[in-house]
Amino acid sequence: SLGSEDNDVVVIGGGPGGYVAAIKAAQLGLKTTCIEKRGTLGGTCLNVGCIPSKDLYACGTSSLIPYVPRSPAFICQPRREVFFFEVDLPAMMAQKDKAVANLTRGIEGLFKKNKVNYVKGYGKFISPSEVSVDTLDGGNTVVKGKNILIATGSDVKSLPGITIDEKKIVSSTGALALSEIPKKLVVIGAGYIGLEMGSVWGRLGSEVTVVEFAPDIVPSMDGEIRKQFQRTLEKQKMKFMLKTKVVGVDTSGDGVKLTLEPASGGDQTTLEADVVLVSAGRTPFTAGLGLDKIGVETDKLGRILVNERFASNVSGVYAIGDVIPGPMLAHKAEEDGVACVEFIAGKQGHVDYDKVPGVVYTHPEVASVGKTEEQVKAHGIEYRVGKFPFLANSRAKAIDDAEGIVKILAEKETDKILGVHIMAPNAGELIHEAVVALTYDAASEDIARVCHAHPTMSEALKEAAMATHDKPIHI
Ligand code: FAD
Repeated sequence: SLGSEDNDVVVIGGGPGGYVAAIKAAQLGLKTTCIEKRGTLGGTCLNVGCIPSKDLYACGTSSLIPYVPRSPAFICQPRREVFFFEVDLPAMMAQKDKAVANLTRGIEGLFKKNKVNYVKGYGKFISPSEVSVDTLDGGNTVVKGKNILIATGSDVKSLPGITIDEKKIVSSTGALALSEIPKKLVVIGAGYIGLEMGSVWGRLGSEVTVVEFAPDIVPSMDGEIRKQFQRTLEKQKMKFMLKTKVVGVDTSGDGVKLTLEPASGGDQTTLEADVVLVSAGRTPFTAGLGLDKIGVETDKLGRILVNERFASNVSGVYAIGDVIPGPMLAHKAEEDGVACVEFIAGKQGHVDYDKVPGVVYTHPEVASVGKTEEQVKAHGIEYRVGKFPFLANSRAKAIDDAEGIVKILAEKETDKILGVHIMAPNAGELIHEAVVALTYDAASEDIARVCHAHPTMSEALKEAAMATHDKPIHI
């Protein structure tokens, strides 16, 4: 039966960490099997995360909506009140489902091409080299491997006292599949997933209120950029209730009634919503895997502890991606996966966690790599800041989408780039020039002296680099 022969590598979980590791392992000549319980490959990211969220945001047309009424290309612009359009939500969802289905099938194709054996079912350890799989067709098979790689990812985390029903109280998964546009949407948690999903529905007409216990949105963001980002979202009519906690949820009526309290205690208020999105983070997923049976060590958050070669405390058992400590991001999981199987194949693997870019896919997007100004200060490093606003960038003005800024932090003495933070419509693409620069220990002058095509948004990065150690031209 499938997988009954010995494998060099068995990967449990077919998300971006697991499927990339499996393909890479096969490419390195290792006999590889990947076990996935979902029925489709691509994990959280492709099925209920990165991809469907970006689809609803962009291809699903919600990113175009704000432009239509304000573009002078539409003759109804001077008489806005006569301009109306309807969103075909089922069509938008169908487009999203089609994109996801095509991509998951694409990975199956890559498995075939690379000769990765794919077992559909729920894997659990019998021993450090044997995984019992309850297959999706109702059978059972045992898959054996010299090396077993745990890539079981993460799952939605709820909050105490809040039950997610995926109808009125939804997780990100439910928020990607609502059957109606909620009039009032409350998002609990101002992390990047909450803001992205809030933006998707806000653009489609929902009144969005974000409730956050902490004093700030997206805590990992550079403080100055964060303030500007919050103002931008507020201009888009997203409301924020920071330093606020949810202490009660009543779903007995038509919608949901939330009882709120200041984080530090005090008078309670209520807030009504048609739909509440709980976006309070994610938790590593190891349920039913039998980790305790083989003695794999986890930390108190349930993350599998690994060394720099991704090896757990049990010989031959490795872990990567969302299930181990580190940023819970698809590209980080992929890097882990490749490095892990390179080590297994006797080669050198490498992931530089200081240079993992982070992107918030709203409009504008916010992307960053390296240190924030707060982190630079905390490290006691003397630094210079170079900034350039997109209001002074010709391409941004030409396309009438000039909200945003580039901020570069460079070491004062050496001019070495320490961190780059970009708020721009396409910041998630622009950031990679900075990732390469950081990876090669570039100075800001290096970026400043590189020829950038005109007119492009990327010129703002060049000008911010000029501003770090000298003067920019266009401001
Ligand atoms: P996962 O993708 O969670 O995959 C794990 C897989 O293992 C799952 O398919 C699961 O079914 C399977 N599995 C678990 N246990 C077993 C078992 N015992 N047997 C068999 N199979 C099992 N990240 C980004 O970088 N960019 C983004 O834009 C982004 N957007 C996101 C938006 C949302 C709404 C969400 C929820 C997440 C987003 N993320 C994004 C995070 C990203 O999805 C995760 O970091 C990434 O999927 C982690 O990859 P992974 O392979 O470690 O785990």
